[in-house]
Amino acid sequence: MTVLVTGGAGYIGSHTVLALSDRGEDVVVLDNLSTGFRSVIPEGVELVVGDIGDRALLDSVMDRYEVDAVIHFAGSIVVPDSVTDPLGYYLNNTVKTRELLAAAVVHAVPRFIFSSTAAVYGMPEIVPVTEDTVLAPISPYGSSKLMTEWMLRDTAAAHPLNYVALRYFNVAGADPQGRAGQSTARATHLIKVAVEAATGARDQVSIFGTDYDTPDGTGVRDYIHVSDLAAAHLAALDHLRAGEPGGVFNCGYGHGASVRQVLDTVQRVSGQRIDVREEERRAGDPASLVSDPSLLRQTLDWTPQLDDLAVIVEHALRWEQRLRQRPTV
Ligand code: UDP
Repeated sequence: MTVLVTGGAGYIGSHTVLALSDRGEDVVVLDNLSTGFRSVIPEGVELVVGDIGDRALLDSVMDRYEVDAVIHFAGSIVVPDSVTDPLGYYLNNTVKTRELLAAAVVHAVPRFIFSSTAAVYGMPEIVPVTEDTVLAPISPYGSSKLMTEWMLRDTAAAHPLNYVALRYFNVAGADPQGRAGQSTARATHLIKVAVEAATGARDQVSIFGTDYDTPDGTGVRDYIHVSDLAAAHLAALDHLRAGEPGGVFNCGYGHGASVRQVLDTVQRVSGQRIDVREEERRAGDPASLVSDPSLLRQTLDWTPQLDDLAVIVEHALRWEQRLRQRPTV
């Protein structure tokens, strides 16, 4: 029984691969290395370098391994890029996932776990956000993920394939043992940007909007530690293996931190002052995006272990310091 992880050389995928391999699962990674790194693949895990849209490759991997589950991370995730290149995003995130699903159906793969996103909710009016919140993505990125969720739902209804879609809130941090972290070039995510500034890799951090209707006027997000998120994938896998019905789950901690709170935490944990510039709001940013993770906690065997912003920041910083010394390849 092998778990096929697409995008397993990327940020969230690599932490999930580590968690799977730590507990002795057989894992094969399919990654085209467009944004992922070979060096984060642990020993004993085969990396197949290739694309999820390559049907012949998918068939050969699924012929070679008895795939018990697909955990599907591969995709494009930069929201502004999706606005300028919508068709590229629909191709990478939606069309190619259709190929992967078609191969999974033909090879009778029984389980599928999908990386979805809180972007499917767009700008929710009511926070915290439950899974029943109206689905109204405001970017091609969010739409491409929502279309994939629907494709998955319909495929699971028509074929013996059970699935879980996990809607991630703001993912941050790095492996507590320092084996993986976020290595993305051109990072735009707040914690990554802030730890880059704290380690001297950038001069300044912009605060996008200081006039939101939030306690300190800056945007509030639900930051979840990447290793807790990886653990949610394993919990989803166990749930499906136990024959339980799948579904869609929010992944967050259920409480938020503002931009200023994040920057203060990074300064405190690093002992470095960060030069901050206050700027206009960024288009499409909601004031507050916080999950209601009750369904996840009640349905899956998942309890957060790292629900502490200072811990998330500490791990992100440690990885960033390492990247400065030894860039990931
Ligand atoms: N943000 C910021 N400066 C940055 C990056 C982000 O002020 O350099 C803010 C952003 O407006 C939002 C929060 O930080 O309120 C989280 O943004 P991020 O891009 O990390 O994730 P998003 O919630 O947009 O997916």
